[in-house]
Amino acid sequence: MNRRVILSREDGEGSSEVRGGRSFAPLRMTLGAAIIALIACALYLRLGPLPAINDAHFQSTTILDRNGEVLYEPLAASGNRALWVTADKLPPLVVEATIAAEDRRFLRHIGVDPLAVARAMLHNIRARRVVEGGSTITQQVAKLVLQSRDRSLRSKLRETVVALRLEHRYDKRQILAMYLNLAPYGNRINGIARASRTYFGCAPANLTAAQAAFLASLPQRPSAFNPLRDPGKARARQQLVLARMNLPRLEYQHARAERLRFAKNAQPALAMHFIEQVVKRVGVSPAWRAGRPPSVRTTLDADLQRAVVGIVQAHRADLVRHGAHSAAVAVLDNATGEWLAWEGSGDYFDDGFGGAIDGVTTPRQPGSTLKPFTYALAFEDGETPATVIADVPSNFPTAEQGVIYTPRNYDGRFRGPLRIRAALAGSENVPAVAMLAKLGPEALLRLLRNAGFNDLQRTADYYGLGLTLGDAEVTLEQLITAYAAFARNGKQVRTTMLLAAQPSNPATRQLLSAKTAFFITDILSDPEARAYAFGTGGSLDFPFPVAVKTGTSQSYRDNWTIGYTKDVTVGVWVGNFDRRELRGSSGMTGAAPIFHGVMLAAMQRARGRLPVGDSTPILAPPPDVEPVEICTLSGLRPSPWCESVRKEWLPVSDVPRFCSWHHDGSIDWPAEYRTWARSTLGTATAEASGRHIKTSHRAALQIANPADGATYLIDPTLRLEFQTLRLRAVAPTRVSWFIDDRRVDPEWPLARGTHLVTAVDEEGRRESVRIFVK
Ligand SMILES: [Zn+2]
Repeated sequence: MNRRVILSREDGEGSSEVRGGRSFAPLRMTLGAAIIALIACALYLRLGPLPAINDAHFQSTTILDRNGEVLYEPLAASGNRALWVTADKLPPLVVEATIAAEDRRFLRHIGVDPLAVARAMLHNIRARRVVEGGSTITQQVAKLVLQSRDRSLRSKLRETVVALRLEHRYDKRQILAMYLNLAPYGNRINGIARASRTYFGCAPANLTAAQAAFLASLPQRPSAFNPLRDPGKARARQQLVLARMNLPRLEYQHARAERLRFAKNAQPALAMHFIEQVVKRVGVSPAWRAGRPPSVRTTLDADLQRAVVGIVQAHRADLVRHGAHSAAVAVLDNATGEWLAWEGSGDYFDDGFGGAIDGVTTPRQPGSTLKPFTYALAFEDGETPATVIADVPSNFPTAEQGVIYTPRNYDGRFRGPLRIRAALAGSENVPAVAMLAKLGPEALLRLLRNAGFNDLQRTADYYGLGLTLGDAEVTLEQLITAYAAFARNGKQVRTTMLLAAQPSNPATRQLLSAKTAFFITDILSDPEARAYAFGTGGSLDFPFPVAVKTGTSQSYRDNWTIGYTKDVTVGVWVGNFDRRELRGSSGMTGAAPIFHGVMLAAMQRARGRLPVGDSTPILAPPPDVEPVEICTLSGLRPSPWCESVRKEWLPVSDVPRFCSWHHDGSIDWPAEYRTWARSTLGTATAEASGRHIKTSHRAALQIANPADGATYLIDPTLRLEFQTLRLRAVAPTRVSWFIDDRRVDPEWPLARGTHLVTAVDEEGRRESVRIFVK
């Protein structure tokens, strides 16, 4: 049977070849069928089904705060038809500008414009990348209706088909009206009516030619031409559109010269940065798009947000005086991980200083705010708040061959033996680096990554010991999230922007032990421990326990204060998005006053009233620690000769070691402190504190600091005026100092090069050492 079929087909084909003339009837039939198919195809292309164009396309989700207050209503979700333009009332200037900007042959083509496509292809080939789409206004309406996001050939074809159908069903004015109501105008604004209200505070019919041209240029690249971010770029595009409009000569000249004034606060702008994050992180997920809920309840507290904005505004004059134009603030609920307040710049519409940039998510150098993680690592490694670290001139090898790292403290002083409590609370640099040198940057990098600092992608060698001083960049959001783990007994928090029906924080990991979290919290909330460095009664002191840390980055570009109570974690960044330096601002003058106000507002909200006088510690001591008496100098258990004793929290398992430093009337310094003690404690303060240096004899003249052959690195994290070298000598008389034979002060500002340091005493004795500064 098979064989027969094959045979007969061969036969048939053969005969049609031979007797071609007689087969033209079936050929005509095939041709006819093809023509019918083509017509059907064309009809289908033109007349086939359109995706439903209904209200859903014109609504996006309304964003609410946690109590139901409307934070953002994108476009006319509930009959707000005032923000619509209808086909019969299109403002002529807007029509003119839009056609000039987007599709100059709009009134002549049938939905697609082969000429524009050809031109776009030519431009793209010349530029070797996609710079132009060649889409008509109708195709863009199709794209907006289909909500296609990718630029694949398939979605392009689909858009083209829908464009052809749109042209069949609707007239040009109707299509243009759809476009004007749907197109994105930047800053989460859809539709010309809302855009003209937001940017210029008027209805579309009242726009000038200059304003219409400006708005018409936005939908093409709403983020690149964002007038609030880059007014210059948007303006250049506007001039191009104006030139293409058919304006009378005089009107054109007038429009060209018109200076655009943007309306300030033309719409409620509360928490705009937060709303952008919600839309970016949650708004594009498929589930969200499928469900299209009419509104979404976020975790933000509008009242607290208003308080935060008010606090930032109240400090604005002070910030500007310090050369800072932006401030970012966020507040996290420690128990639930809910973001309660989120302010990215202090003024979203401040176009001169990048107000639309979100400082909460922008990576910056955190300065000293990372130090607690170095000490947390030390505690995990068995150290205690009583562990003594050497705050003395020290050199550390770096990954770079032959380069030695010589860290310095904020005020250029060295304080000798420093317990971790004092070293962390006073934010001394040298002990933090010494501790990290012992633990290794790899271990710290691992802890920081686990804590959520996802931007730290380089190797430990790359960051080096500067990692503890905050050389690497992190975001305020990451800092707050990581600090919240301290407030939660070492347990990490999973943050959220959406309010769940039942707040829960499941399956979070124990980042640090409860003991470590307690030590860190106890130290950071100890005003006495930081008093020697920060004083008392300032912005860091509260009428209830608050754990707090400040930070300042390289060359004073960024200024931070971050802290927490049991209830909330608050973080503040102050600086400039263009990385301009601040003036005369430290953690105490820039971010700290804002932190103070926000912490009070956040606690007022959390507790209903401020817990003034409530001295309940933030964290209760875990069962494996106990208060023990220690010698304040050595951090060891006191012997009868110890001059000063205090209580410190130590692990129950800590093996007691008794102070071997204090003896009857003298101190036997461990080797690493001897040089420091000789040069520093010869002074009145040491005598006043009753300490006597055990020195059998005094050399006639001896340079105590610097050591011969020492290498100093200029520290990039410190302001240059603090980059001084303290010249110290042990001598019976006054000493004069010379560097390369030039007389200098004993506080010599570091200068790069090889230098000869000479001390000369009153009796003419000289002593010299050679140092290197890199
Ligand atoms: Zn002692």
